[in-house]
Amino acid sequence: MEIYLVEVFDYDLIIVGSGLAGLRAAIEAARVSKGKLRIAIIAKNQLMRPHSISAEGGSAAVLYMDEGDSFDLHAYDTVKGSDYLCDQDIVEFFVRQSPIDILELEHWGTPWARRDDGRIAQRPFGGHSYPRATFAADRTGFYEVHALYDTMLKYGNVDKFHEQFVYDFIIENNKFKGVMAFDIPTGQIRIFKARAGIIATGGLGRLYGYTTYSHLVTGDGLAIALRQGMNLKDIEFVQFHPTGLVPSGILITEGVRGDGGILRNAKGERFMEKYAPTKKDLAPRDIVSRSMMTEILDGKGFKGPNGLDYLLLDFSAIGAEKIKEKLSQVREIGNHYVGLDPVDSPLPVRPSAHYTMGGIDVTRTGFTGVTGLWAAGETACLSVHGSNRLGANSTSECVVFGKVTGEDSAKWLLSDSGSNNLPEGERLNAENFISNAYKDTGDNDPYDIKRDLWTTMDKDAYVFRNEKDLTDGLRIIRGLIERSKKISISEKGNVYNQNLIASLEMKNLVELAEVVVNSALERKESRGSHFRTDYPKRDDDNYLKHTIAKRVGGKLSITYRPVTITKWKPEPRVY
Ligand SMILES: Cc1cc2nc3c(=O)[nH]c(=O)nc-3n(C[C@H](O)[C@H](O)[C@H](O)COP(=O)(O)OP(=O)(O)OC[C@H]3O[C@@H](n4cnc5c(N)ncnc54)[C@H](O)[C@@H]3O)c2cc1C
Repeated sequence: MEIYLVEVFDYDLIIVGSGLAGLRAAIEAARVSKGKLRIAIIAKNQLMRPHSISAEGGSAAVLYMDEGDSFDLHAYDTVKGSDYLCDQDIVEFFVRQSPIDILELEHWGTPWARRDDGRIAQRPFGGHSYPRATFAADRTGFYEVHALYDTMLKYGNVDKFHEQFVYDFIIENNKFKGVMAFDIPTGQIRIFKARAGIIATGGLGRLYGYTTYSHLVTGDGLAIALRQGMNLKDIEFVQFHPTGLVPSGILITEGVRGDGGILRNAKGERFMEKYAPTKKDLAPRDIVSRSMMTEILDGKGFKGPNGLDYLLLDFSAIGAEKIKEKLSQVREIGNHYVGLDPVDSPLPVRPSAHYTMGGIDVTRTGFTGVTGLWAAGETACLSVHGSNRLGANSTSECVVFGKVTGEDSAKWLLSDSGSNNLPEGERLNAENFISNAYKDTGDNDPYDIKRDLWTTMDKDAYVFRNEKDLTDGLRIIRGLIERSKKISISEKGNVYNQNLIASLEMKNLVELAEVVVNSALERKESRGSHFRTDYPKRDDDNYLKHTIAKRVGGKLSITYRPVTITKWKPEPRVY
């Protein structure tokens, strides 16, 4: 192994992450700066292959006020769906902004599905009381990413860096100065100096083994923010999507139930009628997932491999023609992964880890509290989703707040004349990083630790939680953190060292797992996606508040902050 000299790049703005949030931020910053700022966008894989491309079902926006939808209705659905833990002022801003951004995406080339009258089509989605999920077949995220990427290419002041693994942010006296990364193809260490940054690194989904997330989503930005002393907000709220395909966990979009698909237990019963008499299969995800697990635990499921007992998603009410036209990817997934064609067979499903409601604690413009640093997309917690996100609200959130952070950071940069000198010794730190990582000498295999983490999270911090399981889980996770300090990186080469990347990602995941489980243990109530069998009721008197987790002197501190309520007082959540 050879360590190259550190290469230093100098930018005004660096955007880490090229998902919907990062790309939208880059466009807005470029547009506002009118060529005056030097912008870089970097990602740990190919810029055009962020996790966002796997978004299937749609993006929520109020398009048809003339036909009965309204901003208040979208906001109310989101607030109720969040189990009243969202900040209502942010939600009101979000619902007013999203139609503008959805139409902008259309102008930039997103091929939204059309109705017979030629207007944009929308499909029903869980917890929404109006069909407002704007979609492009069942490949919505793929088309959105392409439209944004192509639009970004129009701006000459955005440099693109593929396959750069960011392992730290450079922050001095609470001021952002850049990021440290290594170039995955060569192993060369790179410092990206910048006066401002936007973190858009996505959620923490690979904390779980049974999940709809790609292997890319390992919470790196969240873990670095935590180590750098930033707050993580509401991180115990992880969404389990009702229809993960058994046994892989791959997503079968809610669009299937939006288009008429029905969940059935082993007796063939449409059990959701019992749990949510009005919305039935299109109740919010937390409620559908709990209902499914109740059926499974009552013995009304099918026996699945490795304990993955399951129920069935029945497509028969949709019809072959519509499946082929609107759900072609789901059909491909069924055929390819379980050998079943939904045109003539139901698919085996159970709840799968899917979305991170919590994230880096930011203000309504995405500002992190570190001068010059913003966060957007799934990695940020603006409190749009509270304790349970409604389907189709995330892709919209990414574009709405990607744009806000791009604009805000560019305006700040244009008005800030500060210079950007690297802190003393930063080059040396960067050089030492990789050589130290290779020197890790322990018996522990990073892949074993990750597997043990998955087993624990899938069991102890899943749909139903309780004090004993969470305490057991926390003890195991703390053991994994200790093991993660004594690992061996068996692969020693510089070129595409996947072993090194897996080790860094694993270390980020185990640190985040401790925060998720600790925050879940402290929240002694049931709200949204966080259901405690030992505290089965929502407790507004004591827990209508955001969890704020932070590392203080190496120890985790958990405090709380009030929720902002504007129009909608908390009510019992009935669907
Ligand atoms: C299967 C699936 C389907 C979904 N469908 C929908 C849907 O239909 N509608 C909806 O609203 N929501 C949907 N969601 C949720 C939604 O897709 C995501 O919340 C959203 O796309 C996240 O976008 P993002 O820009 O925040 O991050 P991502 O798209 O996850 O992008 C993160 C970026 O950060 C980069 N990165 C991460 N770590 C590092 C590092 N260490 N160094 C450098 N770069 C790094 C990655 O390379 C990537 O470019 C779905 C989620 C899943 C899992």
